[in-house]
Amino acid sequence: MKLFSSKTRPMHLGPFPLERLRRLHAPHDQLPGAPMPVLRFERPETPQSICNAMAPFQAMMDVLRDGPINTAGAVIPDGPVERANHLKSFGYYNDASMMGVCALPQEALLATPRRSEGTAQLAEGLRSRQTKTLAAGVDVIMANLRDAVDAPETSINTHSHALVVLTAYPRDPREDELGSDWIIDAQAERACLRGTENATVLAEYIRQLGFAAKVHSGTTADVNLGQLAVAAGLAVWEDNTLQAPWVGARFGLAVVTTDMDLAPDMPLAPLADQPWSVLKGPHWQLGTHGGVSARDADPYARRDYAAGPHPFETLKRVDEPTTYIDAPNVPRVPKRGDLFARGQFGDMGPKVQNAMKGGHHVVKSAPSAAQRRLLGALILLQDGPVNDAAPAMADSARNAANLKAASYFLGADAAGLSACPDWTWYSHDATGTPITPPHDQALSLIIDQGFDTMEGSSGDDWIAVSQSMRAYLRFSMLGGVMAQHLRNLGHSAKAHTVMDGDVLQPPLLLLAGLGEVSRIGEVILNPFLGPRLKSGVVTTTLPVAHDKPIDFGLQKFCEACNKCARECPSGAITAGPKRMFNGYEIWKSDSQKCATYRITNQGGAMCGRCMKTCPWNLEGLFAEAPFRWAASNIPAAAPLLAKLDDKVGKGRLNPVKKWWWDIERKPSGQFDTPAQPVNARDLQPDLDLKFEDQTLAVYPAPLAPHPWPYPDPMNREAGIAAHAALLSADEHRRKTAAG
Ligand code: SF4
Ligand code: SF4
Repeated sequence: MKLFSSKTRPMHLGPFPLERLRRLHAPHDQLPGAPMPVLRFERPETPQSICNAMAPFQAMMDVLRDGPINTAGAVIPDGPVERANHLKSFGYYNDASMMGVCALPQEALLATPRRSEGTAQLAEGLRSRQTKTLAAGVDVIMANLRDAVDAPETSINTHSHALVVLTAYPRDPREDELGSDWIIDAQAERACLRGTENATVLAEYIRQLGFAAKVHSGTTADVNLGQLAVAAGLAVWEDNTLQAPWVGARFGLAVVTTDMDLAPDMPLAPLADQPWSVLKGPHWQLGTHGGVSARDADPYARRDYAAGPHPFETLKRVDEPTTYIDAPNVPRVPKRGDLFARGQFGDMGPKVQNAMKGGHHVVKSAPSAAQRRLLGALILLQDGPVNDAAPAMADSARNAANLKAASYFLGADAAGLSACPDWTWYSHDATGTPITPPHDQALSLIIDQGFDTMEGSSGDDWIAVSQSMRAYLRFSMLGGVMAQHLRNLGHSAKAHTVMDGDVLQPPLLLLAGLGEVSRIGEVILNPFLGPRLKSGVVTTTLPVAHDKPIDFGLQKFCEACNKCARECPSGAITAGPKRMFNGYEIWKSDSQKCATYRITNQGGAMCGRCMKTCPWNLEGLFAEAPFRWAASNIPAAAPLLAKLDDKVGKGRLNPVKKWWWDIERKPSGQFDTPAQPVNARDLQPDLDLKFEDQTLAVYPAPLAPHPWPYPDPMNREAGIAAHAALLSADEHRRKTAAG
């Protein structure tokens, strides 16, 4: 837990106090000849290494390192300082450890550009791949990918600047650590993968704005990454080693070169000349700048990887989830019932359908448009052939530890394991084909949507959609690697992502002990991240030891609090009690209202305001510990705590954290000032929302659409009647017992 808040720290400064370091007054006359270490993702001699599974993902990103430039230049601030700060903020939003900018020196261009064999092999396979999914715009993404594979190499001769992404290593896994079987000797490849993900999104973003940009990774590059880290003031060349402050030589690099004019950072002064208190002394020990400190920069410094970064071991475990699931009577529904699929097929009317054409509800936001290209490409790696020759892995406890440790090592924020019962699978896939559940085990992963950006956002402005997409992309990468690794080891496995998934995730999160049902509805709230999360699931046949559900007092808290319902701009969240829906006891929200608002939002793109305003959306400060303890342990304190949260203004906008530009994609493709005023909402503590004043509709299994990919209009009147007929868990039990 942090001691000092980051509330007054602008996003472009990042987690490390780089701004407190001494710098040279001018760029180096000559850059040191830093070597480029060769990375080895393919490890046939150690099939248990997770690096093998990272290989196709790294190759995919190397395929996407370049791309078409938006011919309509965006209307954006033109100052090089503002632009540099903006791109650094985006890099930090993507979880870079450090970001730097430099003018691109000619001496950093490699005489022999680096290319990887993995990329060439992947490109060959991509030309003929087919997919099945309901996601809007995937055909466009696929065409884009094939174009990328066949496009000739572009030159970086016109590029003038470089944006450098530094990814720090966490602790080296110990050989004797339970769960370390797959993650030994994988630090450089992990940092390469994560840094390349960041750079791939940044480069695509810059191209969306109308500038040239190309990614240079540890496997495919035209420039010397180490030299550029020195030029951009992120590292020094000392003792024949590239060293960065606070992290030493333990980091990986990725670079974006561009022709966008950016204000450069100056190189660092030698490490011996840096202020001791900042580099090693009290400021660093305590984290007085509000970012990371010696105590928390590496969450695994004093924790095993398999235990994760948050103290899940302190939570009360229970045999059943804290909300009732009538498992034998949960009806399986078709994937076609997903509200975004229904909108796409016109079930929710022409306004919603038009807003989704070409994925406009997502790509109208520039950061989200940038994330979507890679997210779409990763669909191709979610599933694949299984290595039938691999030896058996029967030790379920060891398998569980390895799955969790590898997920955390790669960057998941929470991981849990459970059975994957048949009732958690959709009945039909995106094509309308019945699904016979192929896997009975599930690894559920949670990705934090990020506290800082959420602080600056209303929750439904021009960054909102990107916050979801960022987390979805991260899971697609990490979950995809985990599924690939299981297949490499001989077990069928699939990553179920936002783009293509066959399971309902909320019940799996409950079974895996990753949270409890919250008033927000289908959102499972985690005690350490609140509702500020996105999830993903990897299903498999690998036998694993299961986690148990958790009880941290949320049911009592949500009964006493209805802040999310009060703050929801569409009125979709119930202010009433929990009800049974399709066999689950939940606070059933009006998903149609929510989805309609998100898709047609004109003052921003999509929405996550319920997550933003919830009292459990915490920064992770030591000072918050009493709230967390009282909220979990003193049910009677819940009403007071909910009121107190309002009183101290939590959930308001923090303008210090607003780093993104409010720009909207126009029909011409140009990003320009939005047509409508931007959503910049304040809290409404005086609004007394009453359940009896709400009109909500729900669509339980009998009102689910047919499973095929053509229209099936929603009947809202029937949905309203269905909501009125929902039963409490006790009523449901009595009715079921009576037959
Ligand atoms: Fe926004 Fe939907 Fe949450 Fe309401 S329920 S705040 S519309 S995301
Ligand atoms: Fe529960 Fe309140 Fe958070 Fe809503 S805002 S999910 S009622 S704690």
